[in-house]
Amino acid sequence: GSSYRSRDSSDFDMLLTICTTHRPATDLGYLLHKHPDRVQAFELPFGAAHVFYPEASEERCTAALLLDVDPVALVRRRGGGGLLRHYINDRPYVASSLLSVAIAQVFGSALGGRSKERPELAAQALPITATVAALPCRGGEAAVRRLFEPLGYRVDLEDPEADRPSHDWEHGPYRNLTLSGQQTLAALLAHLYVLIPVLDDDKHYYVGEEELEKLLRRGEGWLADHPERQFITQRYLRHQRRLARAAIARLSEGEGEGDTDPGEDSIEMPIRLHDLRLEAVTTVLREHGAARVLDLGCGEGRLLQQLLRVDQFREIVGMDASARSLEIAEQRLKLAQLPERQRERVRLLHGALTYRDARLGGYDAAAAVEVIEHLDPERLPAFERVLFEFARPATAVITTPNREYNVNFPGLAEGALRHPDHRFEWTRAEFAAWAERVAGAHGYRVTIEPVGGVDPEHGAPTQMGIFRRCN
Ligand code: SAH
Repeated sequence: GSSYRSRDSSDFDMLLTICTTHRPATDLGYLLHKHPDRVQAFELPFGAAHVFYPEASEERCTAALLLDVDPVALVRRRGGGGLLRHYINDRPYVASSLLSVAIAQVFGSALGGRSKERPELAAQALPITATVAALPCRGGEAAVRRLFEPLGYRVDLEDPEADRPSHDWEHGPYRNLTLSGQQTLAALLAHLYVLIPVLDDDKHYYVGEEELEKLLRRGEGWLADHPERQFITQRYLRHQRRLARAAIARLSEGEGEGDTDPGEDSIEMPIRLHDLRLEAVTTVLREHGAARVLDLGCGEGRLLQQLLRVDQFREIVGMDASARSLEIAEQRLKLAQLPERQRERVRLLHGALTYRDARLGGYDAAAAVEVIEHLDPERLPAFERVLFEFARPATAVITTPNREYNVNFPGLAEGALRHPDHRFEWTRAEFAAWAERVAGAHGYRVTIEPVGGVDPEHGAPTQMGIFRRCN
């Protein structure tokens, strides 16, 4: 029961238990940052969470997370008549995503793999068993197995209402789920965090970019290789196709020797356009005499790799918003293995190009290769100021697709963009108009050059704007 308010018949509970036989099993308390001797309560936006230990001995320790959901708070928060109706008809159905929220809030450190007292243990796979009571499992037993078995769990399902007449998967998809396996606690929590809502398949909430980021963050290290990653992604993002495609594209980054962006490259492959772009940009930077250069939106570091081969570039800085891409860049450049003199030439920065950043000031040149089309059009002016007003390099090189050329890509549907994450692709006239306006506004002069084979009617696949500061 809850100590915060009186219960009534419309309250409902959800229960997650986590048990280990690793010895001493009571170390589970250190990993969860919750003491086995205490019952602890946490207030959440939709009710209360309680953590307690039904058993805690050397040999065996079980922690329980009980969610005591306050339907009034829930409905107020969700603020929807449709949801209210939904919630009354099928209450526990709503509850599963709340369990994910609770896991993140109550076991945040454990989910992140952090433990102050037992850091080695946090990184270690432990014999672990988790149960979730009354979990809605849309797609039945098969879906549950497809999701958890590839991750190395033994899956056991029990029907809590088996004795009720005419109870089947259609009528009530609720099952008590037991997972057992050898897992780090962080992996277990991340699996539950992502896959419980996937099993629920509730399409009633709004999802946006934030959920996409959560999915990729919590899916790190396992989702990209999961045989059901497509299914997981679609359901987790509530069947929003644009988001799901963007997620799949990002999950696929670093596949195939870690150096292709399959969405775009499979479209552009025949002409090895990316290599041409990198060469063109490197040549411009070299001819402009740049020594200290920025690669804005450096992604997985292919341009950086190219720049490193040219001694003229004494200081090379790559910046990207994606920590995962930067990790891949670091591996690609083999920074750790480079001799110190070489290593000192390169730096990777994690940051957003749409916020003023003092670290970007004072460079000779900046490149932004295939980046602007990834920015939301309403964020583009922020990028313009970051680059041309604050960073203000003598030379800036910006490449972007030429949309007119897309008719030449056999794999691309008419009117489609080259990559699911592209927010726009410009015609030659659109890019020229933007480039002229931006250059004029900030005291630069711009010329535009084609990159890749020029189609007499549609132009080149890539357009490159070369901006020179006037003073
Ligand atoms: N220049 C690289 C990557 C192009 S893909 C190449 O040519 O291979 C676009 C890159 O821009 C991605 O790595 C993405 O993470 C990054 N990006 C998108 N929006 C960003 C922003 N607001 N701030 C910083 N980087 C961003």
